Amino acid sequence: MSGPALKEKLAARIRAHGPITVADYMATCLADPEAGYYITRDPFGKKGDFTTAPEVSQMFGELIGAFCLQAYLDLGAPKAFQLVELGPGRGTLMADLLRMASLRPEFVDAASLSLVETSPALRKVQTKTLEKAPLSPAFRDRFTDVPDGPLILVANEFFDALPIHQYVKTTEDWRERMIGLSETGGLCFGIGTGRLDDSDMPAATQDAPEGTILETQPAANAIAQEIGTRLSRHGGAALIIDYGYLKTAAGDTLQALYKHDYDDVLSHPGDADLTAHVNFETLARAAQEGGAKPLPPLEQGEFLLRLGLLERAGVLGSGKSHKIQKTIRDAVERLAAPDQMGTLFKVLAFSGDGQALTPFDMPAGTQQGFTHMRGGENG
Ligand code: SAH
Repeated sequence: MSGPALKEKLAARIRAHGPITVADYMATCLADPEAGYYITRDPFGKKGDFTTAPEVSQMFGELIGAFCLQAYLDLGAPKAFQLVELGPGRGTLMADLLRMASLRPEFVDAASLSLVETSPALRKVQTKTLEKAPLSPAFRDRFTDVPDGPLILVANEFFDALPIHQYVKTTEDWRERMIGLSETGGLCFGIGTGRLDDSDMPAATQDAPEGTILETQPAANAIAQEIGTRLSRHGGAALIIDYGYLKTAAGDTLQALYKHDYDDVLSHPGDADLTAHVNFETLARAAQEGGAKPLPPLEQGEFLLRLGLLERAGVLGSGKSHKIQKTIRDAVERLAAPDQMGTLFKVLAFSGDGQALTPFDMPAGTQQGFTHMRGGENG
């Protein structure tokens, strides 16, 4: 089944049952069993629609490996724990993470690896990428299928792919934004009868002008709460990296990416990637409701610099050709520069018992080091 066929399937459903929510639309476009975006393809890299941080450079996964290793040691090096990645894409982050973490063989000996992945196509790619890794993955359909026990969990660009709801401010109140059919039969936005739950309405948006859009992310929050519950019962740490905002605010963040370019959200259902910015405030609150202790979030650039991005870049580039050194420098820029992924992406960590997690417990200010490097002094 191809994209145009998915458009027709959506139109038929709307003709039969009426307009659908933005969440239904997102879930169908991304995960329809026949034509869902992630179900049918490997969307990453130059030929795909977008490039994620692990695909930019091995340094990203390696530094997250260093985070996991430290978290494991801070947990008191448990004899057995669950190492989990949500939405592993090509498996690149996990391969780089395991290469770094296996510097301490007891980490690998204690870990059982679960990959939470719904896409059969990507499970195949992940299996191949991890062929030579020191751990074999068990695939899970959802986080709740991961066996109990102390947990170290990572998720990069996973939560942005989960369905969101949108509400529109009308003269009376906030009404759910829906997708229906225009007079010519194409997909179009409209306003439904569903109302925004008062508990989802931040005070700051009460006087918002008509037409303002507010988003909620019940699917993402439910998973964060489950992770929180697991951490509070068995201990451990979770690391969530995504683009998003730290305080609830109004705004339409739903976006489509098609062949490395922004696309109209309704134009290529199933053929374009659909994402929404993650609301880290409600995500942290949900984890807390589950029983975990969220730590103050960091921007990705600051997080990576604190973990030693520049030092790692220096080691990788040492003695290499100018061309390779330039590639490494470009990757550092891409991952950490404020005008690239450095500030748009946020990193949220939570632990089971409020234990400090490196580098969230380190003093701020490492961005200076970054400016220094931009001057070209790092090899
Ligand atoms: N973490 C990877 C990939 C990000 S893309 C990287 O950084 O490169 C999102 C990933 O989440 C894909 O692997 C996709 O198949 C998976 N995914 C999306 N929705 C999911 C869901 N509901 N349950 C499990 N996996 C999901």
